[in-house]
Amino acid sequence: MNHNPMILIVEDDASISNFIAAVLSSNQYHPIKSDKGKTAVSMAASHCPDLILLDLGLPDMDGIDVLRSIREWSAIPVIVVSARGHEREKVEALDLGADDYITKPFGTSELLARIRTALRHSQKSFTGASIADKISLGELEINFEKRLVTMSGKEVHLTPIEYRIIQLLSQNMGKVLTHDYIIREIWGPYTNEIQTLRVNMANIRRKLEKNPAEPRYIFTEVGVGYRMAEEIQ
Ligand code: CA
Repeated sequence: MNHNPMILIVEDDASISNFIAAVLSSNQYHPIKSDKGKTAVSMAASHCPDLILLDLGLPDMDGIDVLRSIREWSAIPVIVVSARGHEREKVEALDLGADDYITKPFGTSELLARIRTALRHSQKSFTGASIADKISLGELEINFEKRLVTMSGKEVHLTPIEYRIIQLLSQNMGKVLTHDYIIREIWGPYTNEIQTLRVNMANIRRKLEKNPAEPRYIFTEVGVGYRMAEEIQ
């Protein structure tokens, strides 16, 4: 019996699929493969994998529809694999409940990091682990109880909105949050505060990052949203 986490690779390009399977096998994962969308949906049900890597460009059906159909009955973490420049597709996948995305061509370490993050997040929500009172990331420390943010022990002065954005990102460390998602959570539905969000993010960066042009804590996912680092290199 194989107890390594099972990962379903949905990819019609055999060379990519074989490469990913080899990387996963040598990192204590148990890969299974599907080169079509329909088979992927039935394998997701019959094998109950721990995670799905889903290529969006499939021969028989749109990867987005594969995701939609899996999400009707399952919360299995799904990382979509998308081509460079297809931002709208990535946003759509995230809004439909994909956990993350990775852009082709990607490196092995990036792929493994995304898989670890997605598995950890699903484990957390599965066990219902509560959100910590305090988190630290590099020199950054956030105390949710006191609503206090410090950098190297010194208080960072934030507006209430800036604090709520940091709180939201830090409770989803390692995960990309779309612009729409952040706006809905902070300003509520029926608003279009994209410009306000950008201004707030620029201010947050100035307060947190030594070099805002090369952020270490909060990354911009161009055309998609923002992601807070899970660890500081
Ligand atoms: Ca493809």
